[in-house]
Amino acid sequence: MVHIVGAGCGAPDLITLRGMRQLEEADVIIYAGSLVNTELLKYAHEGCELHDSAKMTLEEIIDVISEAEKAGKTTVRLHTGDPSLYGAIGEQMSELDRLGIDYDITPGVSSFAGAAAALKAEYTVPDVSQTVIITRAAGRTPVPEKEDLRSLASHRATMVLFLSTGLLDKATAELTAGGYSPDTPAAIVYKASWEDEKVCRCTLATLRETAEKNGITKTALIVVGKFLEESNTRSLLYDPGFSTEFREASK
Ligand code: SAH
Repeated sequence: MVHIVGAGCGAPDLITLRGMRQLEEADVIIYAGSLVNTELLKYAHEGCELHDSAKMTLEEIIDVISEAEKAGKTTVRLHTGDPSLYGAIGEQMSELDRLGIDYDITPGVSSFAGAAAALKAEYTVPDVSQTVIITRAAGRTPVPEKEDLRSLASHRATMVLFLSTGLLDKATAELTAGGYSPDTPAAIVYKASWEDEKVCRCTLATLRETAEKNGITKTALIVVGKFLEESNTRSLLYDPGFSTEFREASK
């Protein structure tokens, strides 16, 4: 059996209870050493085999899993944040399907949630934005044309950019051309929930200089949108005049 597990975005106590138990029971752990907090490996039992996938190819990862399966062992494939986002699990699952190896997925706290917590912010503010666009700037890894930043910007929704710290000039240019004003609030959240977390608030126009000034080149999320502004709007959910399934509106 293979468990694909989300490690959470940094702080070791952000892993789920289920993920922690799966680590405790694993005979083999393949962890994404570039971003997973290695403190989590303290849950591994004695004799558990550890592999850092940052130094491995897909073929090598699948070989380790196949060998473990043949020996009747349990494998945890530990991914950073939540495995469903930029985790390249699709290609692993295809291979496991092809080999008839059973697996399941345990979700994790994605860095986009960790970044909101670090910012003490709500991405979906009433009357400001009810949509979160999670995307990345196109770099060495291309992005489908229909999803370029310029066209996504036309919504002026809350935007979270993964894997884009090295592409900030381009991201600012595209987002501005697409409709956000240059003074739209923005932030760079470096290593959300880690001990050396940094939160740098700026504007869309000053993203690159802010990254430079703070020496941030990777492991950061870029967030853009008016959700970062102080807002006095309030939800209907807790409005005394609004009835819900659980509460009658007061007259
Ligand atoms: N599956 C992960 C994302 C993996 S892609 C998740 O759900 O978070 C790796 C990228 O995620 C990094 O380049 C960075 O943009 C972002 N990232 C991962 N951990 C982060 C953290 N703790 N703080 C800020 N950004 C992070």
